[in-house]
Amino acid sequence: MVIQPKIRGFICTNAHPKGCAAHVDEQIRYVKAQPALGDGPKNVLVLGCSTGYGLASRIVSGFGYGANTLGVCFEKAPTEKKTGTAGWYNTAAFHQRAEAQGVYAKTLNGDAFSDEMKQQVIETLKADMGKVDLVIYSLAAPRRTDPKTGEVYKSTLKPVGNAYTTKTYDTDKDLVHDVSLEPASEEEILNTIKVMGGEDWELWMQALAEADLLADGCKTTAYTYIGKELTWPIYGQATIGKAKEDLDRAAAAIISAHSSHHVEANVSSLKALVTQASSAIPVMPLYISLMYKVMKEEGSHEGCIEQIFGLFKQKLFAGNPVTDEMKRYRMDGVETNDDTQAKIKALWDKVSQDNFHELSDYEGYHHEFLKLFGFDVEGVDYEEDISPLANW
Ligand code: NAD
Repeated sequence: MVIQPKIRGFICTNAHPKGCAAHVDEQIRYVKAQPALGDGPKNVLVLGCSTGYGLASRIVSGFGYGANTLGVCFEKAPTEKKTGTAGWYNTAAFHQRAEAQGVYAKTLNGDAFSDEMKQQVIETLKADMGKVDLVIYSLAAPRRTDPKTGEVYKSTLKPVGNAYTTKTYDTDKDLVHDVSLEPASEEEILNTIKVMGGEDWELWMQALAEADLLADGCKTTAYTYIGKELTWPIYGQATIGKAKEDLDRAAAAIISAHSSHHVEANVSSLKALVTQASSAIPVMPLYISLMYKVMKEEGSHEGCIEQIFGLFKQKLFAGNPVTDEMKRYRMDGVETNDDTQAKIKALWDKVSQDNFHELSDYEGYHHEFLKLFGFDVEGVDYEEDISPLANW
């Protein structure tokens, strides 16, 4: 079939296998073009391995350090008539490239929050890889079924405390407009913490420890976004921010629960980027389009792979990495420094429907958005009649 993007609201409902593979290749090329990395991980578990920051973490592990990777993701396989999800194709491409390089890679597709998936991972590690020395926690999910009670929790993206009115950009209608967001109820806050907080990260580390699969000195990190004043009302100080604060609690709990293994657990704060998760958050498309404009002009623009390469090199596998007061690794300084924020704020105050395309880098945003699904990737023939099938 000929595969062209089908966009509905803030998602694209199909994906291009060759475009996704080319996007993975681009990230592998980036890693290979960097100076050789020193000592690093050997056996890596990546939870949320198929897109965005998790995929970049897997690529840096596999192609930067030559590490074995076991990935977990939640993706849809293609059929003869319907394309699979981008994460499916990314994973298929990663496997092919890893195999060609002689690097072990296996991926389990299913619900990372479930006890069954934890069991499957344990069995796979015991059979193939042995103890892990790095666990990346990069899940972004709208809901979670509690494995003990079976109750389903849904996350919400709402302010905490007071209602909040702000500008937003509707990518579907090409419209800059005001949006008013009602504050979350106490229950909505708790439910969001249940989904995106640290409980499941702790359960993973506990399951690995009980199965004797944590190497001595094992490192683990979960990803967060902290941001600044412009995004705090909808992110940092909103329901999702409350869930992310819970990661700080979980990091300390993991260190103390697994002190006999000398586990190092840190939250890593990364910059805002176009990913499937961030496109769904009100305000973020507008903020990111303006931020891209500023950071590209400054020459400080970075994507997933640059951020994660930096995280591994400067923090996770550096001698004495600098942390913030909460022992977090901060890779977001390129975005959150006062100078850059002041420039974004100046654009934010001016932006309206009339000047949006002139003031923002929406073109860049949209290009990155399409690329997430394997579209608008250089060198790919989108008129070609191809099979949507791909395996790993
Ligand atoms: P993403 O949507 O690109 O990736 C999410 C991953 O989680 C995918 O691999 C998906 O398959 C997997 N997943 C989702 N639900 C799952 C489930 N139930 N079981 C197994 N796998 C599941 O997201 P992303 O933007 O890369 O975000 C990853 C992490 O980075 C999140 O914690 C996010 O908050 C954080 N982060 C994102 C940004 C940003 O701007 N995108 C910035 C800083 C931090």
